Amino acid sequence: MLPDDILALLSHMESHGIKGYVVGGAVRDLVMGREPDDYDIAAECLPEDLLEAFSDHQHYDTSIRFGTLNVYSGKRWIEITCCRYESGYSDLRHPDTVEFCKDIKKDLKRRDFTVNAMAMGSKGQIVDPFGGREDIKNKIIRCVGEPERRFSEDALRIIRALRFASCLEFEIEENTKRAIREKRELLSLVAGERIFAELCKLLLGDGVLSVLLEYSSELGVIIPELLPCVGLDQKNPYHIYTVYEHIARSVAASPKEKNIRLCMLFHDIEKPRAFFVDEKGVGHFYGHPEMSQETAENILRRLKADADTVKKVSFLVKYHDTRPSATKKSLHKYLMKVGFEGARELLSVRRADLSAQSPEFFSQFEYLSESERIIDELEKEGVCLSVQDLLVNGNDLIELGIEKGKKIGEVLYWLLGMVVAGQVKNEREQLLSLARRKV
Ligand code: ATP
Ligand code: MG
Repeated sequence: MLPDDILALLSHMESHGIKGYVVGGAVRDLVMGREPDDYDIAAECLPEDLLEAFSDHQHYDTSIRFGTLNVYSGKRWIEITCCRYESGYSDLRHPDTVEFCKDIKKDLKRRDFTVNAMAMGSKGQIVDPFGGREDIKNKIIRCVGEPERRFSEDALRIIRALRFASCLEFEIEENTKRAIREKRELLSLVAGERIFAELCKLLLGDGVLSVLLEYSSELGVIIPELLPCVGLDQKNPYHIYTVYEHIARSVAASPKEKNIRLCMLFHDIEKPRAFFVDEKGVGHFYGHPEMSQETAENILRRLKADADTVKKVSFLVKYHDTRPSATKKSLHKYLMKVGFEGARELLSVRRADLSAQSPEFFSQFEYLSESERIIDELEKEGVCLSVQDLLVNGNDLIELGIEKGKKIGEVLYWLLGMVVAGQVKNEREQLLSLARRKV
């Protein structure tokens, strides 16, 4: 059941008198019949024994004081950690003491949920002291031990519970759920980057819709800006859902790509602030994309998202509501602003947005497909989006005798404008003869 390189590591440990187990997510995945992404190993020994056993292997030991050694299996890097237990979480973040123990069951007890608290030995035997297999069978997320205490020790576990509910499509067990409700404010103490990593995984899960709908108050501790969206009737014929439900449905309807799902989570977040009801009683949200863009950036920075994510999500939120006509001319202009990759991502965003609106307007999907077809065509034609795409460059113009400096850029932009307007083809000779007029 375990891959050969992992079995080889376990047997190498055994030959040094160390009992090792695969632990955590990999065991959960194997029990569920899924292929694990990565394998973690727990070792019933002290850090110095582990170091000695692997001194002849390729390894690095920067975390050895926490009992962790990274070993190369010949195929991949594997984290091997000495069994340990933790006690006292007086700062509600880190254990006061971490003690090593040569006992896998004690190590499993510090883990978050029963489905993550199983170990598998080299012969495939499973150590399952908390009923993880039973909970997998019944699709249940349940804390190991007393839920209130476990969430008080480390509130990240609250969002992890939601993450696993979303990714595994499991229900959260009643007592665990009650403790989540009771302890949710503690989430505000957790470091942004830890939350963000779990939030991204949560958003990519198959069960994201029901998690977003059921746990809005918990997400609201992390992202309070979402709370005014909950229950807000849009009073608009295009919409049959409240702002929050529309957001949740659009996330679930979008492709499983991190930046797109983050965009959907934030795209309408400032609708409550932009909300305006006209004299006919119809709701409007003028300016909400730019307002939501600014808020999305603030939230992502607060959560310590990397700069690339902030930039890309901000771009998608800003342009999420742009609707160029499905004509070559208008899409060409649009592409000059957002590029091919951006345009395609925005099409995904528009589709997800639309599918979370009133079905009465689903005919607009055809307009989006037509736009996509034209974008493909423009790409095939190799249309110019910027002066870099022109088949002449600054040096060509200098050779023609156009004076160096500002003038070169001006002429290139003028040529680009002529190409985009269809007055001239993007062909070298044609462009050069046109440029001669500017000498
Ligand atoms: P994935 O397949 O997404 O990696 P995973 O279960 O492996 O899921 P990790 O975040 O990689 O999740 O954590 C590995 C294991 O460490 C978990 O299965 C769990 O046993 C334990 N663990 C991780 N974070 C915590 C935590 N905050 N509190 C208690 N145990 C934790
Ligand atoms: Mg893992």
